[in-house]
Amino acid sequence: MAWKEIIILLIGFLTATVMIAQDAGAKKIKKYNKIGKLKVDTTFQTAYLNDFMVPFSEFGDLQNCHIKIKNKKLKTTMAARPNFLSLLLGKKNRRYVIVINSDKNFSGVKLENVPSKARIGLFAHELMHIRDYESRRITGIIERGYQYLSFQGKTKVEHYTDGLTIAAGFGQNLYHWATFVLNDSDACEEYKAFKSEVYMKPVTILTQMEQTY
Ligand SMILES: [Zn+2]
Repeated sequence: MAWKEIIILLIGFLTATVMIAQDAGAKKIKKYNKIGKLKVDTTFQTAYLNDFMVPFSEFGDLQNCHIKIKNKKLKTTMAARPNFLSLLLGKKNRRYVIVINSDKNFSGVKLENVPSKARIGLFAHELMHIRDYESRRITGIIERGYQYLSFQGKTKVEHYTDGLTIAAGFGQNLYHWATFVLNDSDACEEYKAFKSEVYMKPVTILTQMEQTY
């Protein structure tokens, strides 16, 4: 293992330890329903689950992963993350979490206001983050974490993930999601401006779909 990889691992350990310590105070007992290897928070609405299953049922590779869906306060609508400690247990034992924002005062896009077609696009996008993590070794996943610390890095990762979503056949749904966020949602202007930079714009999605399909 190269020195660079060892240093990245050590920094990753420290970051995870701090995050776990912060999380421990806020932890409540949650109940989950199991669908194969998928674990779903019992408070996750059936309508959302039905939309989630549209892309998920197409992705055989991800059905073999340990994925948990849960609600939590976030600064975005939804996020997909690896469980850092599980990364140390080898690829077969990796755990992923898809978190849905439960913050009622969130000034961005709330999942409850998103139309079904757009919601499917967002779920497909989150699942592509997991496909991306699955293609990476532990150091590659930690590097993804660092890319998220800068605006440029974040933009690069999110555009790449949107590209994966289109390649996986969910371009139309992703287009619905992107147009909803920018044109029809009641998110504040600052949030919309941020989204239109970090993620693919609707016109870019259409252009890439023409080139792909
Ligand atoms: Zn994303």
